[in-house]
Amino acid sequence: MKLTGNLLLGANEVPASAGTMKALNPATHQLIEPDFAFGGAVEVDRAAQLADAAFDHYSHTSLAERAALLERIADNLDVVAQPLAARAALETGLLEAQLLGEAAKAATQFRQFAEVVRRGRFLQVAIDPAQPERQPRPRMDHRLQSIALGPVAVFGASNFPISYSVAGGDTAAALAAGATVIVKAHNAHPGASEIQARAIRQAVQDSGLPEGVFSMVRGAGNAIGEALVDHPLIKAVTFTGSEQGGMALYRRAQQRPEPIPVFTEMASVNPTFILPQALAERGAQIGDGFVERMLVNVGQACLKPAILIAIAGPGFDPLRAAMINRVGMAPARPMLTPGIHGSYLNGLDKLKGAGATPVAEGSPATAALDGQATLLEVDGQRFLSETALAQEVFGPAALLVKVEDEAQMLAVARALRGQLSAAMHLEEEDLGLARRLLPILERRTGRIVVNAFAHPQEVSFASVHGGPFPASSDSRFTSVGMTSIERFLRPVCYQGFPDALLPEALRDSNPLGVPRSVEGR
Ligand code: NAP
Repeated sequence: MKLTGNLLLGANEVPASAGTMKALNPATHQLIEPDFAFGGAVEVDRAAQLADAAFDHYSHTSLAERAALLERIADNLDVVAQPLAARAALETGLLEAQLLGEAAKAATQFRQFAEVVRRGRFLQVAIDPAQPERQPRPRMDHRLQSIALGPVAVFGASNFPISYSVAGGDTAAALAAGATVIVKAHNAHPGASEIQARAIRQAVQDSGLPEGVFSMVRGAGNAIGEALVDHPLIKAVTFTGSEQGGMALYRRAQQRPEPIPVFTEMASVNPTFILPQALAERGAQIGDGFVERMLVNVGQACLKPAILIAIAGPGFDPLRAAMINRVGMAPARPMLTPGIHGSYLNGLDKLKGAGATPVAEGSPATAALDGQATLLEVDGQRFLSETALAQEVFGPAALLVKVEDEAQMLAVARALRGQLSAAMHLEEEDLGLARRLLPILERRTGRIVVNAFAHPQEVSFASVHGGPFPASSDSRFTSVGMTSIERFLRPVCYQGFPDALLPEALRDSNPLGVPRSVEGR
């Protein structure tokens, strides 16, 4: 597949205005052709003007037309899956087979959202008919539906270069909601980003929709992202990445003359609690499974289980031995970028500086960006005295926390910040402790898993990928799953409207056949 490296602003191929970059192969540390264009505030403005101009048309497309666009995008992603996975593998060092799975997942997400659009439940239609006889004052007819917020800026993630990137869940959910989208491509995979952007753009063109429905920009440093967040025509932002980056953009958006919602998904250590009977019965098996999940994507996953908490007692030594054994067998694999590799080494130093002891290491690094798997250990008391031990270290490292008793296990749970997920491994005899742990975890996490690990994440109606800060900036919403569409919607009430002027979903005859609540029923 031929890559041009251009910015894709609607239908326009736009060359560099602020320099160029080449992709880096993290496995070989070699640069890969071609040059990719950097733009700046001018290109952001052009994309935002196009997105704004397209919004009124696109947000009023019929549900069938919008669903058809999403299915076209899915079909186009299927067509490019092979070259997309191959290019993404070159640019990220991740396994091509896994990236093929990601491409399939991305296409599936678009099809799932097409179904969500067709069903129309996301419109959340509510009707309170007029009550002209009501005393002491008549009630007018009130009808509510949700509409899209406006043009959305999507910051693609680095670590899942397809399913959380240009054609990821944020783009799919925003387009499903009726929002127009500008993606800020992540510079860690510019070629994979271009392939995805072309698949989406082609679908927009083939659907006969305005070109501004979708654009992709790219830039050097923070300037391009800041220009996007600052642009007055952008009405919402989604972001997946570091806590530092996410919060910088969040604060910036709140300081605009018109503040806008920013949905950031940031840091999580996904704590795993092994309850005593489960530890005694299957400590070694759980330890082995934990490390296997920890190593997925070279530990560069938001759902990586990073902290395991177990009580000293029967089963602890086999658990520890299994973890040491599994980490010791792990090959060193390339990390995504020099920046992420550097942060990983820094993060390990911070854990050690805070009192964690390394107890196992995988094969040593043989290339510059290789991440060496590491298992560290600390006791519960130390963990409770050092907040640095509860921080996310993005990469193939995990911390084993050995607690004295049930009370200390609960204290460790209370000391944790907001999480995307937490897991409990338990047997029937552990239910009493699990009941005491549960309310502590509910307050701190978006998803609680029993006798399994949080990775991988289902994409379904009951999915939650979010949680209290710093897992996300707004714990009321999920960034994965069918309800993630709600981030891009707001309610509008139509009061006293004649039937002919109402949006279709609100008309008396319900021509779209969407589910509606009438008088709250
Ligand atoms: P990142 O450094 O936060 O960057 C994410 C994106 O935001 C990039 O496009 C980046 O642009 C842009 N950006 C960051 N800070 C910015 C700022 N102040 N102003 C404007 N734009 C800004 O994340 P990353 O590159 O993916 O690094 C990995 C980190 O993300 C890890 O430490 C991990 O903790 C976190 N992460 C979390 C999840 C999750 O789901 N919770 C998923 C993936 C990663 P540039 O590249 O041009 O700087």
